Amino acid sequence: MKATVCVIGTGRMGSAVARSLLNNGYPVWVWNRTPDKCAPLVALGAKTAADVKDVIQSVDVIIINVLDYAASEALLKRDHVATALAGKIVVQLTSGSPSLAREESSWVEAQGAEYLDGAIMATPDFIGLPDTALLYSGSEAAFATHKELLLALGGKSQYVGKIPGQASALDTALLTQMWGGLFGVLQGMAVAEAEDLDLALYRNQFSAFKPVVDAALFDLIDRVAARRFAGDEQTLASLGAHYSAFQHLLEACDERTLHAALPRAMDALFRQALALNGPGADFASLMPLFRQGGPSPLSKEETHA
Ligand code: NAP
Repeated sequence: MKATVCVIGTGRMGSAVARSLLNNGYPVWVWNRTPDKCAPLVALGAKTAADVKDVIQSVDVIIINVLDYAASEALLKRDHVATALAGKIVVQLTSGSPSLAREESSWVEAQGAEYLDGAIMATPDFIGLPDTALLYSGSEAAFATHKELLLALGGKSQYVGKIPGQASALDTALLTQMWGGLFGVLQGMAVAEAEDLDLALYRNQFSAFKPVVDAALFDLIDRVAARRFAGDEQTLASLGAHYSAFQHLLEACDERTLHAALPRAMDALFRQALALNGPGADFASLMPLFRQGGPSPLSKEETHA
C-alpha cells in the first residue's frame, strides 16, 4: 500500500512535488500559508486542512518545502505541531546549510520522528522526470522504506550518507562548480568581446572543448582523491604549463582594462602553489590551498609520484 504524504509549502517547487506524487498515485495532503495556492492541487485530488497539525496527523511522510529553514521552524516548532510528528518521517526539501540540517535532524529525532534532508538538483519543471536527481542524507532506513516515493520526484535521486548535512554539502559542492563555470564564462566573454569576436563563435566552440574540460575535471578529482599531486607521466598539463597559458588572461585584462578580480585571485593561488611545489607539479597540487586550515606543505607521498 502506498504511504500517505503531505507537502507543506505549495509554492513553485512544492506544487511540482505534490503534482508529481499525485501523478504517481500517492494519497497527498497539502498545506500552504496562503491557502489559495492549494486549490489547483486539491482540484487534482489532494486533500487539505486549515491547520498544519491536522495535515501532519493525517500522513506517514511529511515533505516540507518552504522558503527557508526559519519559515520551516516557525511552522514546526510549536507544541501542538511538534507532538504530531512522533512516528512520522520528515523529509526537509527546503534549501539550507549542512549545519541547519544537523540541527533540524536532532530536533526532529527528539520529537520521535525520522529525518531525511533533501537537496533538489533541479527546477520545478524537472520534478518527476527519470533523469532528475534529488540528493538525500540522514536516516538510511527512512530512505530505504520510502525509496519508491522519493524516486517518483526524480528517477536519479540518491542517498548520499548518514550525516544529515551531507546532501546540502554535495549540493553546495556541485553549485560551486557551476558558479566557477558561470563566472569563468563572464570573464571569457569579456576577453572575446575585447577582441571583437562574435559571442556565437565562443558559444559554438563549447561542445568541441567540453570533453577536454570534463576529462581535466575528472582527472583532478581522481588525483586529489588519490593524493597524486606530483607531476608524473599521466599529468595532462603541469602547473608551470597552466601558469604560462594563464599569463595571456592577465595580459588581456591589463591591455583591455577588463575586470581582473578573479584572474588576480587565481594568480595568487598559482603563485602560492608554484612556490610550494614547483612548476613540474600537477594542477592537483593546488588542492591543499583550499583545504580546512589553509595551505600546508605537501607530505612526502604527495610531492613524489
Ligand atoms: P516560492 O515559489 O517562492 O515558494 C515559497 C514557499 O514558501 C511558498 O509556499 C510560501 O508560502 C512559503 N513561505 C515563505 N515564507 C513562509 C513563512 N514565513 N511561513 C510559511 N510559509 C512560508 O519558492 P520555491 O521556488 O518553491 O522554493 C521553495 C524552496 O525550494 C526554497 O528553499 C528553494 O531554495 C528550494 N528550491 C527551489 C528551486 C527552484 O528552482 N524553484 C530549486 C531547488 C530548491 P506563501 O505562498 O504563503 O508565500
